[in-house]
Amino acid sequence: MRDSLEHADLVAFATSRGGVVVCTEYRGVAALHRWRCGRDHEFEASPRLLIHGGYWCPTCAPTVNDTSGWDWVEQASVDPLIARFHRSGS
Ligand SMILES: [Zn+2]
Repeated sequence: MRDSLEHADLVAFATSRGGVVVCTEYRGVAALHRWRCGRDHEFEASPRLLIHGGYWCPTCAPTVNDTSGWDWVEQASVDPLIARFHRSGS
């Protein structure tokens, strides 16, 4: 895979999810980088997993089998991507 990302892309991506990339240096699409979501959870993941794979904070993300419900309103309050499509009551 051609590695055409740079640190500015990581910053832009994290911002689009309401978070930040903690690492100040880009080390490759498959390398672990440190991130913080809008609810202050820190986690490590590669840019590939997040940007190409569509994942974000593992603490905020619900699992497929999670029956405890998920607070979309809370998520939308910190994550611009969720907020963009979230409709209250749905
Ligand atoms: Zn989180």
